[in-house]
Amino acid sequence: MADDLVTLTIDGHEVSVPKGTTLLEAAKTIGEQVPHYCYHPGLSSPAMCRLCLVEVEGAPKPMPSCVTTVMEGQVVRTMSEEAKGHREGVLEFYLLNHPLDCPICDMSGECDLQDYVHLEGRKQGRGVEPKRVFGRDDFGGDVLFYGDRCVMCTRCVRFMSEVEQDERLTVVERGNRSVIDTFFTEGLEGTNWHGNIVDICPVGALVSKDFLYKARAWDLDHTPSVCASCSQGCNVMLHTRDNLVHRVKPRENLEVNGWWMCDHGRMDYEWINDGNRLEAPLISEDGVSRRAVGWKDALGELLGRAEELEAASVRAVASARASNEDLGALAELVGALGGGETVFRSPRAQEELVLKGFPKLARRKDLAPNVKGAELLGMRRVGDDAGAGGLDSVAEHGSIVIVLGDVLADQGEDFGAGADLYVYLGTHDSPAAKHADIVLPVTSHAEQEGTFTNHEGRVQRFWPALQPPGMARPAWLILGALDAELTGEGAPETAAELFGKLSDAVPAFGGLTYPDLGTQGASAKVGAGAGS
Ligand code: SF4
Ligand code: SF4
Repeated sequence: MADDLVTLTIDGHEVSVPKGTTLLEAAKTIGEQVPHYCYHPGLSSPAMCRLCLVEVEGAPKPMPSCVTTVMEGQVVRTMSEEAKGHREGVLEFYLLNHPLDCPICDMSGECDLQDYVHLEGRKQGRGVEPKRVFGRDDFGGDVLFYGDRCVMCTRCVRFMSEVEQDERLTVVERGNRSVIDTFFTEGLEGTNWHGNIVDICPVGALVSKDFLYKARAWDLDHTPSVCASCSQGCNVMLHTRDNLVHRVKPRENLEVNGWWMCDHGRMDYEWINDGNRLEAPLISEDGVSRRAVGWKDALGELLGRAEELEAASVRAVASARASNEDLGALAELVGALGGGETVFRSPRAQEELVLKGFPKLARRKDLAPNVKGAELLGMRRVGDDAGAGGLDSVAEHGSIVIVLGDVLADQGEDFGAGADLYVYLGTHDSPAAKHADIVLPVTSHAEQEGTFTNHEGRVQRFWPALQPPGMARPAWLILGALDAELTGEGAPETAAELFGKLSDAVPAFGGLTYPDLGTQGASAKVGAGAGS
């Protein structure tokens, strides 16, 4: 093992890193971020931006740290006056043509050119020649190109050719006139991963049409989360302001999504901001009109009506968009009400979209994040390949019917009409909740803490990014309180506590705790089964 390690000195610190590590990556181990544009850990390294120059003792010239690999006994200075002087010169070249339009640039506040110039650039520019002008181009899809701002790092070109493996971008012209362009008139239209080129563009040359002029980078809060739009479980950051999600960005996790996410997941956030939400518990006495009540009254009514139904058969249907905690609490409640079956549904896509250059990542057919979690909890999947139907047994055979987080869009208004007690827990109202005796408002995953289990059994946490609307509460909290009333056991007070109970009861989750999951998740024991 030790033979595979190389020991060198970087900025006075002795470090040991695996053979083949670049100086740029080795410097990160002591917290030094050497400025760079063309280098990206998920792409090849052309060493063309010349910004990552560092001083290596004994070398006749400054070395590009993104392609120079470590050597035993090497002495490297990344922050010496000489190294910074070289980089200052390179930055000055970039500013010869780059417009100083930071006040109107979408990238301002998170731009590598802005940051590096503040860190290491000259205080005043010396350029007197007019700047080169390219103007703005629509690259198709969600991407606008501001050619004047481009620093020609070619990250976008390499992403499309190496990772998406659909060559839609190239460099045309030469020298000072070099510019990024699309091959065909359709540009990026029809590609499925192009939002990533906006993320990796180090400056404001590629911007998202969807996000354009929506918010300044420094006004956004960032909350780690998990994409809820398919069972891949890409790690993401929700960027929020004024209690709204303004954009979704991928969060690095080499086990799941690397640095990337698909365009479908990136754009599937407006439903979280939809203001047409259920905000208070609703009770229907005559099956027609509903009245809003407080939580105590709603839960008391539900328990009272359930008690009147002797030998009730309980049927529950859950959405695979619900968290492990929500689903686990639902299964517990069904048991406490006398036992019955809980089924789940997930919308399905016709095909899987694999990211060819990073094939462990695909937009999966299951368009919900917690299909595996529902399976591990012993729930039976219903519905055809398009995720519709399959609910006849629920509607017809349950005298108590509970629906969790499933908008039942494909169900008619008669759904649940024959049940003695129909309880609907949802973020939004649904025509199929028309006959619900009790409607309970729940939070979305962006408003609560919890976990999803992705398609290969990785359990991953998400955190609350938004305030819930009105009286909406996490489903696990509501269901846990009902269960506690029926069983006399204490109600779980936190999602971590509830996950701990799941972990004890379900072999597949055996031993896992929230601290074990951290920010990157951990694998469930997929073969271990659902437990009792
Ligand atoms: S558009 Fe952005 S990512 Fe592409 S070459 Fe220019 S600076 Fe680099
Ligand atoms: S691949 Fe799936 S989880 Fe990842 S961003 Fe796309 S929809 Fe979301």
